[in-house]
Amino acid sequence: MDFSLSDEQEALYASMRKLGQDVIAPGAAERDQKGQWDPQVWKAVSAAGVPGMPIPEEYGGSGGSILDCCLVNEALAEGGRDGGFGLSLGAHWVIGTVPIWLHGTEEQKRRYLPGLCDGSLIGAWASTEPEAGSDSTAIKTTAVREGDDWVLNGSKIFITNGPIADVCTVLAKAPEGPTAFIVDAKTNPGFKVGRELDKLGCRSSPTAEIFLEDCRVPANAVLGDLGNAHWKVAFECFDWERTVMLAGIVGGMRTTLDQAITYAKQRQQFGKPIAHHQVIAHKLAQMEINYQVVRNAVYKAAWLKQAGKEHMVEASVAKALCGTLSVDNALESIQIHGGYGYLKDFPAERALRDAKLASLGGGTTEIQKMIISRAILA
Ligand SMILES: Cc1cc2nc3c(=O)[nH]c(=O)nc-3n(C[C@H](O)[C@H](O)[C@H](O)COP(=O)(O)OP(=O)(O)OC[C@H]3O[C@@H](n4cnc5c(N)ncnc54)[C@H](O)[C@@H]3O)c2cc1C
Repeated sequence: MDFSLSDEQEALYASMRKLGQDVIAPGAAERDQKGQWDPQVWKAVSAAGVPGMPIPEEYGGSGGSILDCCLVNEALAEGGRDGGFGLSLGAHWVIGTVPIWLHGTEEQKRRYLPGLCDGSLIGAWASTEPEAGSDSTAIKTTAVREGDDWVLNGSKIFITNGPIADVCTVLAKAPEGPTAFIVDAKTNPGFKVGRELDKLGCRSSPTAEIFLEDCRVPANAVLGDLGNAHWKVAFECFDWERTVMLAGIVGGMRTTLDQAITYAKQRQQFGKPIAHHQVIAHKLAQMEINYQVVRNAVYKAAWLKQAGKEHMVEASVAKALCGTLSVDNALESIQIHGGYGYLKDFPAERALRDAKLASLGGGTTEIQKMIISRAILA
């Protein structure tokens, strides 16, 4: 087994971490406080070719492998220290763009992918509804055929990039069964952005309710097969969320740990740095253990995916570990910072708020355990 990275991958990691430090990190605390998306940060990251990372060059992307995408996501999160930016980028890549690449017709790919790759278009995915969360088969949004068009009606909630998306893939129930439709979100008058949701963390990523009100799309807006969107298109999204997107959590955990180490070495109590009190040193050691466990699990799942091997259980294990251990580490970081960790002056409390999403979005920890238990009990 070879865990080493190539020289190119090491260089990619270093350049992406620097990009994160230079363009994402500077305003991260302010964007969190204001709950604000910054298009200038998106522009700068797009100029570096990041949004098209997973997509083949012929459609305007960089043709990065799954592992390359993980490294980019991890490095940007480590350097950028902004869970919200990572969430928006992840949603753009993994659930906004990849489904069009993997399931789109040639015409759909030529139409949307170049803009999604250069960042001039922002992507989103809308499946969750007020009464269809973990049970995504319970969606009520309807798709009715009218002549050459489809007419969509229903409501969606928790849609990452909803207010800024140019292209949104919407899951709806057609007579044939669940079907995915590509909607031009900015120009379709039936695609209405509702309330922007005020969140605990990842606050620089805009999340909204979406209303589909007689949202008319042409027949060639159907993505993939009619009636088969759950088992093909949606499950593919979850698969990418539980591998590539998780690497951002790993990068965030690294930064949280590094910040705690730096603080523990500087802060003096009882005549010595608190890092020299064994209890604190062991807290840091446990954070390192958690970080390594999560990183290995995420990259194992991603490596299996890249190799085309079965990885459903490994991806759910990685997701469940991320959900629990990233929060554990963020809580310990606050504890190591003492009272200062409870203040907004230090990044520890934001890390905790950002980390909590890992156990919720893209399938909760309980759902991951359901998937794992079904597999091991089968
Ligand atoms: C910030 C954010 C961004 C998001 N972005 C998107 C997006 O871009 N697009 C999109 O479509 N969706 C998005 N989501 C939605 C997300 O995928 C759902 O929130 C998630 O799937 C859980 O659904 P729910 O919130 O309705 O919770 P519920 O399904 O109502 O779950 C509530 C609780 O019950 C538990 N539970 C449910 N069913 C079971 C069961 N069978 N056994 C045991 N426990 C169970 C859950 O684990 C959870 O603890 C986002 C969510 C958030 C918070």
